[in-house]
Amino acid sequence: MRVQVEGTALPIASADGVIGIDIGGTKIAGIAVAEDGSVLARGSVPAPASVGGAAMADAAAALALDIAARSGSPLTAVGVGAAGVIDHETGVVRAASATFVDWAGFPLGDELSARLSVPVRVENDVNAFLLGEAARTAPGERDVLGVMLGTGVGGAVIIDGALRHGPHGAAGEIGHTPGYSDLMCTCGQIGHLETLASGTSIGRRYAERIGATPLDARPVADRARGGDPDAIAVFRAAGRALALACASAATLLDLPCAIVGGGVAEAWDLLAPTIAETLRTDAPVSGLPLRIVPATLGGDAVALGAIEAVRRALVPADAH
Ligand SMILES: [Zn+2]
Repeated sequence: MRVQVEGTALPIASADGVIGIDIGGTKIAGIAVAEDGSVLARGSVPAPASVGGAAMADAAAALALDIAARSGSPLTAVGVGAAGVIDHETGVVRAASATFVDWAGFPLGDELSARLSVPVRVENDVNAFLLGEAARTAPGERDVLGVMLGTGVGGAVIIDGALRHGPHGAAGEIGHTPGYSDLMCTCGQIGHLETLASGTSIGRRYAERIGATPLDARPVADRARGGDPDAIAVFRAAGRALALACASAATLLDLPCAIVGGGVAEAWDLLAPTIAETLRTDAPVSGLPLRIVPATLGGDAVALGAIEAVRRALVPADAH
């Protein structure tokens, strides 16, 4: 069952047997929540990304059934946020990184629906992240940018209350917009936002400055908090590039709010001063205020957004 619906935010809840699943490269996580937002059940299993799409679907289906059983409601629908470029209407993975074997072209939605005999909705994981965060972190906002600062930099956009997918499902890919540095990006091009603002890049930029082997962003953040000028400099560069990218998107689309998630956003104390400074010098010329705020749902955002995605798909448009 596939229903194409755009509409206003519904409360994220799955007391009715809706399970949210977050499929990543190392882990598949799932959650069921009550109407009041409390967690009914959750779980995770290792992601067999190197085995293939069928193994991923098997693992995700088993997890969904396990969580449903523990939540006390029979499974009625599954929302999925999955890594890769996703055709949200068909649930097919259009493209994926090489670490996912047999993932590009895999009909994930149909394969899960066949295993579980319930409706399944699949979204890109950053889109799902933004659906979840927008409902909880920026309620009432109908136009929101989402940026995920993780291993790479992902992005998503909600316009007039609905996810904007674009004709190729690639709307919001802010991480690969150019002009922020002269460094090589993971995609092979030069100067993208990701070269300064991803966790991987923060570790690399710091290592280059001190002549060490690359490390994770978290120890760099610890060193910045301890006063290390090189660590502070890479977080300042990340914060400025992030704020400039958000200001560009806000200027283009009149977006009043950007929500920033992913592991790097845990160092919000290090990013916030530079973001505020950049918004003063490079504010959208509309003069309208742009809020750039940290995500609040932590590791649950993608799975919670996936619940929101499937609920929206199942509720007729005239019910909104
Ligand atoms: Zn790139």
